[in-house]
Amino acid sequence: MFPLYLPFLKIADLIYPDLCFACEKNIPSKNSSVCIQCHYNITPTNYHLKPENPVTDRFWGRIILQHASTSFVFSKGGLLQKLIHRLKYENKPDIGIELGKMYGNQLANTPPYNSVDIIIPVPLHPKKEHFRGYNQATMFAKGLSETMNIPWSESFLIRTENTETQTKKSRTDRFENVQSAFKVAMPDKIKDKHLLLVDDVITTGATLEACAVKLLEVDGAKVSFAAIALSA
Ligand SMILES: [Zn+2]
Repeated sequence: MFPLYLPFLKIADLIYPDLCFACEKNIPSKNSSVCIQCHYNITPTNYHLKPENPVTDRFWGRIILQHASTSFVFSKGGLLQKLIHRLKYENKPDIGIELGKMYGNQLANTPPYNSVDIIIPVPLHPKKEHFRGYNQATMFAKGLSETMNIPWSESFLIRTENTETQTKKSRTDRFENVQSAFKVAMPDKIKDKHLLLVDDVITTGATLEACAVKLLEVDGAKVSFAAIALSA
């Protein structure tokens, strides 16, 4: 058996935190882990409702996707940027799960996201994951899984090698370099499946593109993207 994690609610998830997970100051609003003020400061992009949006634009002409979107509006110095910083560098995996749950609620009944079979996080380099203790994309995937009621797995897409320093390479070299870093495992298990590939922040999109190229080599596989934020 391979680990395919089914969404389920743990008792702990049903107990909402005493303080807002974002500001850690105010009392969260009812049935939420975020206070009213932070809800207001974390603005949904609603890109999932738009066939063409800034995320699909970023991948236009590069790869065939079912859809692509990011969850909340990202601005320099804004609350979302602070949350992502804490998720990545301050040992706060729960932030990824919470943002995933919030976005999963929006995606759950929206085509084509409601036809996703498996949620797959972009694998982090093992050294980084060891240092950080978790993969932030996996935390986002877990949260999405819970509210979308769709399983997630890290077993199908794996990171194979250390990506060399990218800065001195040309664009083509960089692409080949990042391409060779990913590998599909057990392709027969994801044949004809709609895969939701997820990451934390989309910048150039090179990593997501490289992962999608590999997944799309599998017969009948379809890919959509969801990330927490799109950076300028
Ligand atoms: Zn708050």
